[in-house]
Amino acid sequence: MSVSQFMKKIVAKNPGESEFHQAVQEVAESVMPFIDANPKYKEGKILERIAEPERVIMFRVPWLDDKGKPQVNRGFRIEMNSAIGPYKGGLRLHPTVYLGLLKFLAFEQVFKNSLTTLPMGGGKGGSDFDPKGKSDNEVMKFCQSFMTELQRHIGPNTDVPAGDIGTGGREIGFMFGQYKRLRNEFTGVLTGKALNWGGSLIRPEATGYGCVYFVNEMLKHVNDSMKGKICTVSGSGNVAQYTIEKVNQLGGKCVTLSDSGGTIHDSKGIDAKKLAWVMELKNVKRGRIKEYAKKFDAKYLEGKRPWGVKCDVAFPSATQNEIDGSDAAALVKNGCIAVGEGANMPSTPEAIEVYMKAKTLYGLGKAANAGGVAVSGLEMSQNSQRLAWSREDVDSKLQQIMVSIHETCIKYGKEGKFVNYPNGANIGGFVKVADAMLDQGLV
Ligand code: NDP
Repeated sequence: MSVSQFMKKIVAKNPGESEFHQAVQEVAESVMPFIDANPKYKEGKILERIAEPERVIMFRVPWLDDKGKPQVNRGFRIEMNSAIGPYKGGLRLHPTVYLGLLKFLAFEQVFKNSLTTLPMGGGKGGSDFDPKGKSDNEVMKFCQSFMTELQRHIGPNTDVPAGDIGTGGREIGFMFGQYKRLRNEFTGVLTGKALNWGGSLIRPEATGYGCVYFVNEMLKHVNDSMKGKICTVSGSGNVAQYTIEKVNQLGGKCVTLSDSGGTIHDSKGIDAKKLAWVMELKNVKRGRIKEYAKKFDAKYLEGKRPWGVKCDVAFPSATQNEIDGSDAAALVKNGCIAVGEGANMPSTPEAIEVYMKAKTLYGLGKAANAGGVAVSGLEMSQNSQRLAWSREDVDSKLQQIMVSIHETCIKYGKEGKFVNYPNGANIGGFVKVADAMLDQGLV
């Protein structure tokens, strides 16, 4: 079957779910030739099975706002694939959340989790609830109601959710509290927990740190390094913040941050002191990035994304499809040599085409941002052992995992001197899951 024949079926079966179609197509283009060369996967209809969620749960989330008025949101959990371990993946709280968005994220998660080398299946969930502008009390009411339904579908050996856009430490806390209350058990049912009740050191840092480690590996492979690199970063949440921290530690300089309002451009660089201020602004005061421009005398590009700013390395760390073909062309034209995707699927297919033509070192999300779920996997191991590992221990395991993901990309993606990272990550992630599915019979 050709990719277009396969995609016709996917589109017909999943109407209106454009992000899901995009994610499946990207994988199909990489793995279809590999499947043709390995008939056991074709005969087992593995790709068709992987593209069908094992289970989709959709539910009503009613909660009372601060005025005592009822509000209703829609909750989801996509249990995509459990061939190599319990479902694992974050919970997104954002008004754009709908079934197709979470199916794309759950699908990506299957391959990403497989690449980490840890025993985790793929899942994703969330709600169209918007935490922005809500009081702590309203967020708690929502989280408690959300978990009241979700708790019956998850468990430490079944499905272990984590954070994502809009779900940080505060939300994980409220959800964990409700799970414990309803189930009367203290287990590692969620990751991203605070340190004093079962969380892992380095988990908050893991996605950003891991992404920079991965880019560093891509650069090392071409005898280069992060030292002295000018970097643009989008977003200003969890992933963006720790990307900047690690870039600074490795001797690079980050010059942008953004949110849905616009981008700040600070050509002097976002040093540790300014970053601490951003963390306070975003994680405690929950303010807008615009305030940075005033505070540190930087430029504010209202309504703009950072991709017109000259850089050596770009770290998209906000959301899907935030770099389109013309953004990618601007990056390449301005001398950008590497892209490390902290966000999931931030580059459109047109953008990816531009990178491939320009031979940009393209660290796609499912490889480059796998550090977050990898340390979530390590949090699960610590919870099972009822032990807490040291910061150095977790960080060194994270680094080993990112190196191993890079090696997998080379193993499956090497084309002469060039590494086709999408092929490497997609095929590398596919093989482990596909073999497990074949071993387990028709499930
Ligand atoms: P946060 O909620 O902490 O931060 C998200 C940031 O992105 C905010 O600055 C937000 O701005 C911006 N943003 C979100 N949606 C949009 C949008 N539609 N348009 C413009 N800006 C937007 O989320 P994370 O940092 O955790 O996640 C960022 C990305 O990284 C996501 O793609 C996520 O799936 C991915 N990721 C996260 C992992 C993790 O461990 N947290 C693991 C792997 C991937 P605003 O406040 O204005 O909305």
